Amino acid sequence: MSGERYFVGLDVGGTTMKAAVVGDDGRPLSEPAVLDTHPERGQEAGLETMCETIRRAVAAAGLGMDRVTAVGVATPGLMDIKAGLILDPPNLKPWKNVPVRDHVKAAFGKPTAYQNDANAAAYGEFWVGAAQDAKSMVLFTLGTGVGGGIILDDRIVEGEHSHGGELGHLRIDTPDRGRLCGCGARGCLEAYAGASHITERVREELAAWRGDTKLRAYFTANDDELTAKVIFDLAAAGDGLAAKVVDDTAYYLALGACAAIAAVDPETVVFGGGMTAAGERFRSAIEGYVRRFGLPFPTRSVKVAFASLGSDAGFIGAAGCARLLVGAK
Ligand SMILES: [Zn+2]
Repeated sequence: MSGERYFVGLDVGGTTMKAAVVGDDGRPLSEPAVLDTHPERGQEAGLETMCETIRRAVAAAGLGMDRVTAVGVATPGLMDIKAGLILDPPNLKPWKNVPVRDHVKAAFGKPTAYQNDANAAAYGEFWVGAAQDAKSMVLFTLGTGVGGGIILDDRIVEGEHSHGGELGHLRIDTPDRGRLCGCGARGCLEAYAGASHITERVREELAAWRGDTKLRAYFTANDDELTAKVIFDLAAAGDGLAAKVVDDTAYYLALGACAAIAAVDPETVVFGGGMTAAGERFRSAIEGYVRRFGLPFPTRSVKVAFASLGSDAGFIGAAGCARLLVGAK
């Protein structure tokens, strides 16, 4: 027992923070401790909430802090990974230049790893999730935006400027006619496959759609209730327009995957996030387009999988980053 190592992984999001203690085998010792982030209360309060979430996770695991080997913290960007700073994160306003790593390190006196949240989620899936048997992977996380992470030979591709693996901003259309992305550019994958952009595409498709569709009603009475989940559910129930929009989404995601495959030739491409609840039909649609449009040799055998850790991937991966910091064994 005394030889076992324990790592705390903390995943900081715009709404909540989650943390748990994870063993060398990648298994959390308890359900995660969850606290509201409340970014509007300011970054000093935010840093204290991070420490409190970590303390609660250690308590939930039935351990003392003395049993913890290292801590890993994952946050959304913009960030400077090497310096351990969140710079100017759009979903944690008004935080600016927050010294996350050094604060947590000083609070607990433990080696502390710092990582981008999507990179941490990718590492979680690589370590003990959908790509645990792979030597390399790329992850696309599908939500309001499209995030990404790249792992090659047990290493996270952070990039020179901390923004390696920003796969949502792979260009799948030209900058002059492509859809407008939240980053200010046109033609990014996120502008086609991010949840809010999918509902925008429905609005545009409706004008030309001749058949019946339940989606039409959403643009007369309850526009606000049209979510990507509604669209996916209607597609599964046989709605023609919803099915077209979902299939187009699979096509766009495959174009992004093909670009990533051409860049790094991974063993596995993993998709995570709420949309993957659509299941095998959606996964195989993406895979079909990957095999059809990807660089022939690598796409013949690349695996296309859905993530298996759900929203636990972030804190498990953050704990994995802590373990990498002190040396995986
Ligand atoms: Zn973009």
